[in-house]
Amino acid sequence: MQEQLPLLEAREITKRFGDLVANQEIDLPIYGGEIHAVLGENGAGKSTLMKMLYGVYEPDGGAIYAQGTQVRMASPADARRHGIGMVFQNYRLAPAMTVWENVALALPNLQARLNPRALRQRILDTAAQYGLSVDPDAAVWQLDVGQRQRVEILKVLLSEARVLLLDEPTSVLAVTEVDDFLAILRRLRDEGYGILLVTHKIREVLACADRTTVMRAGRVVFSTNQMAELDEPKLINHMVGEWVPPASVARHVDTLAAPLLRVVDLAIHDDRDRPILSKINFTLSPGEILGVAGISGNGQRELAEALLGLRPIHQGQILINDQPLSHPSPVSMLDAGVVGIPENPVEEAIVPGLTVLEHMVLGGLEAKRRGMGIDWSTVAQAFKTLPEANTLRVAAAERRADGLSGGNVQRMILSRALARKPRILIASYPSRGLDIATTRAVHQILLAHRDQGTAILLFSEDLNELYAISDRLLVVSHERVSAPIDPRTVDIYQVAAQMVTRSH
Ligand code: ADP
Ligand code: MG
Repeated sequence: MQEQLPLLEAREITKRFGDLVANQEIDLPIYGGEIHAVLGENGAGKSTLMKMLYGVYEPDGGAIYAQGTQVRMASPADARRHGIGMVFQNYRLAPAMTVWENVALALPNLQARLNPRALRQRILDTAAQYGLSVDPDAAVWQLDVGQRQRVEILKVLLSEARVLLLDEPTSVLAVTEVDDFLAILRRLRDEGYGILLVTHKIREVLACADRTTVMRAGRVVFSTNQMAELDEPKLINHMVGEWVPPASVARHVDTLAAPLLRVVDLAIHDDRDRPILSKINFTLSPGEILGVAGISGNGQRELAEALLGLRPIHQGQILINDQPLSHPSPVSMLDAGVVGIPENPVEEAIVPGLTVLEHMVLGGLEAKRRGMGIDWSTVAQAFKTLPEANTLRVAAAERRADGLSGGNVQRMILSRALARKPRILIASYPSRGLDIATTRAVHQILLAHRDQGTAILLFSEDLNELYAISDRLLVVSHERVSAPIDPRTVDIYQVAAQMVTRSH
């Protein structure tokens, strides 16, 4: 099997976004009859690679080959012509239309579209063959996420693709749905499809991949098709990389002040109202960075939301200065001095059409009033002299924020959060999308605020980052949060192993 040509192959693909090298000379073959898993932490460059294979972006260097022949994919339509299909999560379907109508729209062949009866039958046959049970006559809006995903796969299969690109397909599925999904992938693989499975879940890789590539910071750091030789610890080491002990960051573990924030027996649910965290207990002190480690999707986002008053608490309590907050809301949390940096600022914090300065004022910089409006000249002056904005090189005040790159949005949102002088900062992935120099600046700023007494809860998937600046660490896995860990005495690999353990 190995001697055949890959159905699709990236050779020395490079992609830059400004200064950031998102993909650096990536080699990646996708063979028919194989599931090739690409594993990597957030920001490793997985989605960027996949978008080039699907013609969304064109590479800055290197080339893409289909069965040994170089191909140019200037658009997804080109990719589809080369037999490449991308499985989107759910937003590519027309909700008011039925399953079969949605499939019909995706077909390149008009003939097939004109015969609904035959098409329905093909859907039923293909669905039965691969275990993609779905009713062709159901309206898409009636389907849950898992069913919509199956419709996306059916669309790709019936449009005669041979290569399936899946970007974190299991992130939308319930734990109980994942095994069925992997069984579908195995069946497709056995029928000769080439499957690219992008994920950051090691368990899935070990359960179904025939070949595994690990990406870190835009590069391939490891690749093998000897799956029998792989195990969790090895994959963790490749994902996390060589651990360089952080240089001389003073830790406050031994001198912690009395807790400012206390979380007691907290239980919260996910968006589908299923328990995601329970019996959560921890404290956060002024002058401390408490890191939270965990594979994403384990409830970190929900925990951050609960602490910001954005998600109802199912059980338990949040106390600030020993005062229980009876009904935490965004306003009551802000009043208590709790400020958040959202996980996806581009999606969650940008108001289209407004400038950088206007964003800074929206709940950030203090704005003096002048008559009925805001005194913009003093705001502009305050922005100019804001130390964080300078250190982080925030974009010019008059630029429109919706035109900024992800990294620039991140810088703006971070300096805005700090301009509020929070007592408690809930920082979710504050360095995501930033280059190394800016990431260091972010760490310095967080440490400086810590030293001034801010209590910081730092969510990150990057263990090196957590180890570099946390005073103590928590690990989230399987609905629970661990007891606090002292990064000076516990090995990073032990923490990494704890992140992926299956038992409580
Ligand atoms: P992954 O899918 O592994 O999480 P991505 O490929 O999405 O990683 O991102 C890799 C890096 O490229 C990140 O630092 C991200 O912020 C950056 N990036 C991705 N897309 C863009 C874009 N359109 N503009 C600027 N930077 C981007
Ligand atoms: Mg991605």
